[in-house]
Amino acid sequence: MTIGTNRREFLGTFAAFSFFPLEQEKPDVILHNGHIVTMNAADPVAEAVAISRGRFFAVGKNADVMNLAGPGVRKVDLGGKTVLPGFIDAHSHPAAAGLSHLRMVDCDLRSISAIQAAMRERAAKTPAGEWVLGFKYDDTKTDDGRPLGIADLDAAVPNHPVHIEHRGGHTVYANSLAFRKAGIDEKTPDPPGGRIDHDPVSGKLSGRVAESAQAYFEKVLPHDFTRDDHREGMKLISKMLARTGITSATEAQGTPTNLRAYQDARDSGDLLYRAYCFINYRFIDSMIEAGVRTGLGDEWVRVGAMKLVCDGSISERTARLSAPYEGRPNDYGILVMTEEELYTHGRKAHLAGWQIGTHANGDVGIDTTLRVYERLQLESPRHDPRFRLEHCTVINDGLISRIKALGAIPTPFSTYVYYHGEKMRYYGAERLNHMFALRSFLDAGIRATQASDYPPGEFVPMMALQSEVTRTDTKGNVWGPKQKITLEEAIRVGTVNGAFASYEENLKGSIEPGKLADLVVLGRDPFKENPSTLVTIPVERTMADGRWTFES
Ligand SMILES: [Zn+2]
Repeated sequence: MTIGTNRREFLGTFAAFSFFPLEQEKPDVILHNGHIVTMNAADPVAEAVAISRGRFFAVGKNADVMNLAGPGVRKVDLGGKTVLPGFIDAHSHPAAAGLSHLRMVDCDLRSISAIQAAMRERAAKTPAGEWVLGFKYDDTKTDDGRPLGIADLDAAVPNHPVHIEHRGGHTVYANSLAFRKAGIDEKTPDPPGGRIDHDPVSGKLSGRVAESAQAYFEKVLPHDFTRDDHREGMKLISKMLARTGITSATEAQGTPTNLRAYQDARDSGDLLYRAYCFINYRFIDSMIEAGVRTGLGDEWVRVGAMKLVCDGSISERTARLSAPYEGRPNDYGILVMTEEELYTHGRKAHLAGWQIGTHANGDVGIDTTLRVYERLQLESPRHDPRFRLEHCTVINDGLISRIKALGAIPTPFSTYVYYHGEKMRYYGAERLNHMFALRSFLDAGIRATQASDYPPGEFVPMMALQSEVTRTDTKGNVWGPKQKITLEEAIRVGTVNGAFASYEENLKGSIEPGKLADLVVLGRDPFKENPSTLVTIPVERTMADGRWTFES
């Protein structure tokens, strides 16, 4: 059995400890009779844990831990169930997703007519002229064999402006009224780093715009969320995450408003996961001026890295690649920022002590981002900057060795192979052996994480494990089998490595004395499960800070 050592270390010796009144510290709750996979290499499997004031106090055999039980200690019999450390989603967009679920039509539907019906229904309840908003549309998941077009939306909703976000977040679809409100017509040129799509035959607007062209709509969309709405959104998404076993998440495109919402939700008791809140580069000046940098906060709400974006998306095929997309010989994707822009913003943050997280999907995007990081470290070396490569999807051996040399952290999509199998053909079999490349990262000693990127990806951790272990999609197609990892490795990626990515490896990620009492109780043992059914293992309970955040 191991017992909390943090206070003992403080006191210096064990002998000193035995005379100290802190010895009277008693656990509040004991979970026993479990199969506890700790992810602590020194003590990998335990039967029981004692928890005191939100932290693990002792981890070990039933009899030893039960010995610590004094009067008034709650005892929970786990009935032999498997327990894992709480999952850490290292790149997600929960704050925005919570608001979207609160206000928008969920367009994760399987036909254009179903989307039309859902939008029509919402329009019927919306005063004419006001926006009807949708999200989570996925052009590859409808059975029509073609994307949503401007005519589909005009037919469904003629009298309201309609704006639907692709679930990837890099393209939007709108009706004619929305384009008029945004000031876009057929002759509007593509803005730098963006695209306004036209019908190749008629030259008319197709209804879709990509990347920076979305800003035309941003200017005219309603931004009337109250402070209470933000907290409500947080409450909603908290429940969604907790029921899947997530106890921590990185808010990957955070703003000062999100930071406030996190604090509000924590104060009202609605926040059920620990947030590492990135701050978008646009807000960085005022934060640096206020003396804020990465790490400020506490175990529930902490300021994360500064966020930059280098290239496009994988799910929407705008990531910047060195070789074109399959079947589209002239399409290499999009670079969103120039290297010089990335450097200018990055330098400011780097000098002010911020971690930097740059969205870089394609091999060209990753190469560009690494050059910026290498230059920053060369010019202004900092101890342990933990540069992050958000997504870091398409790699090669040269990139791997540079990532290793920098000590950078990739956050590859965890559920894409399983959930977005139908998009994999755009990348081709050979390239897929170099995508979401956990095997390559782990073999090189790179501490890659688990990351959903929700809404673009699904956030269910058991789906992430299945996807990473099997590299197989829902239809049984295998994509990039060379990148398979073991179940034990996948759990480590989703727990221990996630904690490292936010400088919190001494606080969480494993079940060991002194760490935060964050865990998940599973309905079945994943180590005895067929890997192709891991996603069906139910989460029975989730605990954060010693309290149940979800109970089935
Ligand atoms: Zn993202």
